[in-house]
Amino acid sequence: MKSQYRVVVIGGGVVGASVLYHLAKFGWSDVVMLERRRLASGSSWHAAGGVHALNADPNMASLQAYTIDLLSEIEKESGQNIGMHMTGGLTLAGTPERWEWLQANYRIFQSIGIEDCELLSPEEAQRRCPIMSTDGVLGAMWADREGYIDTTGTVQAYATAARKRGAEYYEETKVEELIQTADGWKVVTDKGTITCEHVVNAAGLWAKQVGRMAGIELPVSPLKHHYLITDTVPEVAQADFEMPMTVDLEGFTYMRQDQKGVLVGIYEIDHEHWAMDGAPWNYGEELFQEQLDRIENELTLGFERYPSIQNVGIKTWVNGAFTFSPDGNPLVGPVPGKRGYWSACAVMAGFLQGGGVGKTLAEWMIHGEPEADAWPMDVARYGDFAQNKRYIRETTGQFYSRRFVMTYPNEQLPAGRPLKMAPAHDAMTEAGCKWGVSWDLEVPLYFAPKGFEETPTLKRSNAHDIVAEECKVIREGVGLLDISGFSRFEVSGPNAEVWLDKVMASKLPAPGRAKLAPMLGEDGRLKGDLTVLNWGDDTWWIMGSYYLRAWHMRWFDDHMIDGVNIRDLGEEYCGFAVVGPKSQAVVEKLAEQDISGLGFMGCDEFDIGLVRARVARMSVTGEKGYEINCRYGDHIALRRMLLEAGADEGIRECGFNAMLSTRLEKSFGIWSAEFTQAYTPGMTGMDRWIDWDKDFVGKDAALAERDGNGPAQVQVTLEIDALDADASGYEPIWSGEDRVGFVTSGGYGHYTGKSLAMALVERDKAEPGTELTVHVVGVERPACVIATSPYDPNGKAMRG
Ligand SMILES: Cc1cc2nc3c(=O)[nH]c(=O)nc-3n(C[C@H](O)[C@H](O)[C@H](O)COP(=O)(O)OP(=O)(O)OC[C@H]3O[C@@H](n4cnc5c(N)ncnc54)[C@H](O)[C@@H]3O)c2cc1C
Repeated sequence: MKSQYRVVVIGGGVVGASVLYHLAKFGWSDVVMLERRRLASGSSWHAAGGVHALNADPNMASLQAYTIDLLSEIEKESGQNIGMHMTGGLTLAGTPERWEWLQANYRIFQSIGIEDCELLSPEEAQRRCPIMSTDGVLGAMWADREGYIDTTGTVQAYATAARKRGAEYYEETKVEELIQTADGWKVVTDKGTITCEHVVNAAGLWAKQVGRMAGIELPVSPLKHHYLITDTVPEVAQADFEMPMTVDLEGFTYMRQDQKGVLVGIYEIDHEHWAMDGAPWNYGEELFQEQLDRIENELTLGFERYPSIQNVGIKTWVNGAFTFSPDGNPLVGPVPGKRGYWSACAVMAGFLQGGGVGKTLAEWMIHGEPEADAWPMDVARYGDFAQNKRYIRETTGQFYSRRFVMTYPNEQLPAGRPLKMAPAHDAMTEAGCKWGVSWDLEVPLYFAPKGFEETPTLKRSNAHDIVAEECKVIREGVGLLDISGFSRFEVSGPNAEVWLDKVMASKLPAPGRAKLAPMLGEDGRLKGDLTVLNWGDDTWWIMGSYYLRAWHMRWFDDHMIDGVNIRDLGEEYCGFAVVGPKSQAVVEKLAEQDISGLGFMGCDEFDIGLVRARVARMSVTGEKGYEINCRYGDHIALRRMLLEAGADEGIRECGFNAMLSTRLEKSFGIWSAEFTQAYTPGMTGMDRWIDWDKDFVGKDAALAERDGNGPAQVQVTLEIDALDADASGYEPIWSGEDRVGFVTSGGYGHYTGKSLAMALVERDKAEPGTELTVHVVGVERPACVIATSPYDPNGKAMRG
């Protein structure tokens, strides 16, 4: 072992080994992996080794598909047998809603390029898995690329392949301390100290402690998990093919063949955390005693699904632990505020996702950016609030118990909530507000009559008409919208303007003005769909999506220059928007100064009633609107005054559901849908805001796109001839038999009375009038490209 490396990877489980392999593969071979015991001696050795395609999150499904394809490559490269059994796999649907969901997901898989799936009848599913009972099964999805591998062999294969490419790894070497230095890290081990530029926390069950070595509190916890392996099952032994990997979602079990018996794994509803502060250092390759009382119900369902295992003995019980983040996705990437400290932990399905995690992290470290949009697993998707132990316990527990439970897009889950509430929260609840959550903050969805409960559904819900009324108020009268759920950063200092001019691709606004500002990465892909406000007193604001606060702050910090102060105002400022044709009348009634001169995209400080507020004349609804930003302490008073002042105009409180419907009618894109870091300005229409005459981050790449052949796909608006459901995102779009794009977001345009979607489609299918079809909740529906902004295309309403 040398005393200096470029990278030290801490942990020799499947994730650390994959990171090591990818670093070496992409050209960094001065890298070492340190393992306190032997390779795979954390969760990796006792995993069930199952790999399957299905994941409700399309980004994670792509990551899994990459990993599955990689497995045979590393086997070949390393010469290490990984015991690959690609049996194909089944996912069973046991309720009509689940069957609908599976059909919808089958189409979404097509959108993201996973083509080797098919939908099966219960009878066909049983023909492929003859030991299963079809009782209650309504249908199934088959995927070719599913099966299982030998876990320890796979970790060995990654490590051996990495070593062949020049990387090193050492077992029986425990990292005991991490010391940040001016240009990297000192890694203190029980075998001596190493200096390096980068450390990677791939410590699996011990990730929490390896985080704490650097003063980081990662939102991760281990939970226990059971599987059993049976003795020989006669039907299995007699079959001339292997049983497929079978996931019974309604039964909470997965099953695969193991020699002549089967392995059945259980996602326990009655979950149990273990060692929330990280596994003990003396924990080795042990297992826990099985806890049958906790898994009785799921076990009964499993035995009913596979009746032939009722008559054979159980050879092995495994009750082991593995780690989860609050949303179940890995925590990957540069940890904010800790230069050179990288996270590769909370990977709950390391054999399924570890390849993709290793690739993503290695690209990030070497090239500064991963190839694919890493947002769903970016460690910066959480803020400080997620360090709280109870938050971690509730959210990871909820994720684990619901691993196989269907979550509807309109369903609100309770874990870790309510946490942060804007001050008027309780008064708004009293007024009927139904809440959703963004990051740590409760955000209003809509206002309903007392006693109303929304039914979870994949289709239009019983809140449809309520949202329609709120949209009408916004379009015809005046609505009041709590906009605490926007992010706000204050930029000041002598170099504030210079810095903003460099990181934003648009022209900066003049004093007293606001401007839409795309922000690009060095590779020319999007990093933000922000609004910059110039208050005219040498302070500027950047406004954007609330849940991106830590992510954007990391970006700002990474691109900071001297003479600039940037502050996240998320704990100081919140506010209300007053929107609709009668908004001016309401705000004027309260404003102590003349507000009539504040034109579209103007901004200034005003006294709104008793509140000293920062006001901007803009609205994402496409109506005339005033965004009134106030200090947290003024939120209750501001709401009360606006409601009183607006009473004569019929002001009504509205929520984000109405805001999203109205923005769709204006073809206004939003982050995580129309705009992501996978897309470019040319694809999304963001290029119209770029100031090509100035220098800005990402300019070379953006110019190359502008002056090249143009993007293959461009953003359009679609009107869908929908029935009782609207598109939501990732649904495939067809021109005849050809898949020509996918939906980025969709919904019902309540005021226009149209089912709308925004979508990325091939350029020659982007002309208004082009007839296409879209799968909405799995059902093919006619759709037509329409001109952007089906409501008020000339923007007269918002300019007012
Ligand atoms: C019962 C069970 C069944 C499972 N089934 C599947 C499945 O079918 N498919 C699937 O994909 N996943 C499955 N998993 C999950 C899978 O095991 C984990 O996702 C995976 O092992 C995580 O790998 P890792 O490398 O992140 O962590 P680990 O395997 O825990 O590796 C971390 C390593 O870091 C080392 N380490 C920690 N601290 C230090 C230090 N300070 N210095 C040096 N070394 C250190 C540890 O010794 C350990 O070897 C299952 C898990 C369990 C428990």
